[in-house]
Order: sequence, then structure tokens, then C-alpha cells
Amino acid sequence: MESQLSCYACGSTYTGGDRKRCECGEPLWFEMPDEPGTIVEPDRYGMWRYESVLPVSSPAGIGAGAGGTPLGRLDELDTHAGCAVYVKDESNNPTGSFKDRGSAVGVTHAIENDVSWVGTLSYGNMAMSVSATAASVGKNCVVIVPSKIPDVRFQMIGQYDPRIVRVDDFKSVNEKLADIESELEIEFINADVPLRVEGQKTVAYEIWDQMLPDAVVVPVASGGHASAIWKGFRELRRYGKIDEIPRLYFIQVEASEPIARAYRNGQQEVSPVETSDTAAVSIVNKAPLSGNRALAAARESGGAVLSVSEQDTLAATERFASEGGLCVEPASAVTLAGASTLSDRGEIDDGDDVVLVTTGTGFKELAGTDPGPTSDESNEAEIQDYLEALTT
Ligand SMILES: *Cc1c(COP(=O)(O)O)cnc(C)c1O
Ligand SMILES: [Zn+2]
Repeated sequence: MESQLSCYACGSTYTGGDRKRCECGEPLWFEMPDEPGTIVEPDRYGMWRYESVLPVSSPAGIGAGAGGTPLGRLDELDTHAGCAVYVKDESNNPTGSFKDRGSAVGVTHAIENDVSWVGTLSYGNMAMSVSATAASVGKNCVVIVPSKIPDVRFQMIGQYDPRIVRVDDFKSVNEKLADIESELEIEFINADVPLRVEGQKTVAYEIWDQMLPDAVVVPVASGGHASAIWKGFRELRRYGKIDEIPRLYFIQVEASEPIARAYRNGQQEVSPVETSDTAAVSIVNKAPLSGNRALAAARESGGAVLSVSEQDTLAATERFASEGGLCVEPASAVTLAGASTLSDRGEIDDGDDVVLVTTGTGFKELAGTDPGPTSDESNEAEIQDYLEALTT
């Protein structure tokens, strides 16, 4: 099947190739067939139940076990949240976060297209997810990380044995990525690329399949996951499975709130911000690549984007464990703090069924409470040589 990509903002379409962004600058996503056939294949496992709306077929390795996470009622949290709380617990993925859904699609695409390397630019959940998924199918993987990260991070990523490239100037690599990718045979499965979005949209298909709520609350950084959930619900509406998209609420922390700020100010475009330290490390992002698309998703679904304080984030992390029995990352706990803020504002009420998407497990955080020394070794100088050597 020749793939067709389209732009949510201006409607332009592109056939074939591997463009990731539109001429207008906004991110592209895959255009789905009008008649996908059977949407749910009940005897398949996890996200592969929705294979008919995915651009690849079910893989071997840990990607086969991605998705299929429980959606549970957690009524102990109702009073605090001010609504009927359901939790879509993404910590039940192979490496403990929803990123495994996107990695499964990206790595499988690389296999199907004989691309020899996969890669990512991350030192968090995405780095672990891509390298673990690649390891499980014998694919080469390169992970580009900033030179100064705590040693415990190197250990967590390093156990899957990817090639780790440390760079001093993380941002400039990001800008050069398109060139690196077109020159060399590496499929970068970064935060909001079309393949990752396809995998991550299955969260919406599962929520629809399990219990369609009034609202869904999701932590947001790059906006890739938020865009994916929006896309999933848009497709379900187009296929006549739902009449209306649930209200989508996206939560940031005050320490990193570019999208929330643009929303508050009524802007159509997200501008870069300065960020500060926070426990919600997985949602720190100064210049979110899919920020404008997340804004559109919140507005068009009748939701909102807001940020919560550090104190509320930490309190919500404790509350998830002590009242919900769930050990989640602070980056995921912001959903509970966000729901509580929204009910105070009267945007959600106690008659609403609200799904909080707990994006990642807190167990990794516990391992990282004593970060040990920070390494500032860098092999950036080698990066070009090394990447060139990959293809020869
Ligand atoms: C990556 C991540 C997010 C943010 O997702 P984006 O797609 O970048 O918006 C939120 N929570 C956790 C646990 C993550 O790993
Ligand atoms: Zn466009």
C-alpha cells in the first residue's frame, strides 16, 4: 500500500516518501482508508486488535505485547478529582510507558522496509522503549543523548545495548536530524513522527472499545501522544463508531508550559518557553513539535490545556499510590491534579466519566532517586564519522 500523508492544518496531502512535516510547517500524519474493514479483531492481542487501521503488521519481539492495557474504575479518587475516575494504565506496556505502541510500529516499519538502523533522540522513556523494541527483534539502534545525564539513565538505556551517542549540543542535532536521516539509513522514531503517532493512536481505539468516556485527560510534552489520541477518535467518528469525540484535556506542569500558555492567551501557535526543574521530567519540553496540533485537538474537542503546580503534582503522585494503588511517574500524576483543577473550575462535574491516562510507571523513578554522578563525557565529535560508517 502506498502511504498517503496529510496535514491536519491546511489539508495538503503527500503520496509516498517519508516526509514528516507539511510545507506549511505543521506535522503530517497518515491518511487512513475510507473503508478499513473490520476495525476490531477480537482474537488478536493488545494494539494489534486494530491492525486494519495500522500501517504495518504485527511484529515479533516485545512490540507484539504493546497495548492492551487495562481501563479500570478507581472510585477512591472520585472525591478528589470531582468526577467518576477511570484510569487507562499505560504502565502495563513492555517497558512501562505508552511509547512502546509507537516504537512497535516504527521498528516494524524499519523491518518491513529493510532499513538497517532505528534511532531516537531521547534519554527517557522513548530511549528505553525504542532500544528495547529494537533489541527484541535484532535491529540495530542508535540513541542520541545529551552528554550530561545522570549515570543511572545510561544504565537504564544501556541494558538494551543500543549504540549511545553523547552530544554536547542536543538541540542542533535535532535540527540536523532530517539530513542525517536522508543521508543515512536510519529510521528515527521520534516523539511525533507519523509512524509513532499511528501506534499511539491505538490508545483511543482501546478506550472506545473498553468504555467511551465524556473526557480524557492526558499529560503533554511534544504533543505527539495528544495528537495521536485525537487522530484515533477522529477516525472512529469518521467510521461511524462514535458521534462525538470526548473532550480532550492536556496537562502540563508550570515548570514547562508552552502549550498551556498559548491556550490561556488564546493563541493559535505555541512559542518556545524557558523551563525549570520539576519532578515531572518526562513532560519537560521547551519547544513542542506538535504543540499547535495539540492546541487544535483540545479546542476542537471542547477540552482545554492547562498546567498544574509542582506541589499539586507531587501530592497527586502520592495520592495515586496511597488511594489508587498505582505507582506512576509524576509526569502521569499531573492528570489527577489537572482533573481536580478542572472540576474546581466547573469544566468537569461529578456526573462525568473521565479517563486519566497514566502514561508511565513510577518504578523507574524509584530506581533513579539516587542519580549518582552525572557524566559529561561526550562523543559528539565522532557522531558524523560514526553515522557515516553505519552505511558502509
Ligand atoms: C513521553 C511522555 C509523555 C509526553 O508525551 P508527548 O507525546 O511527548 O506529548 C508523557 N508522559 C510520559 C510518561 C512520557 O514518557
Ligand atoms: Zn499543512
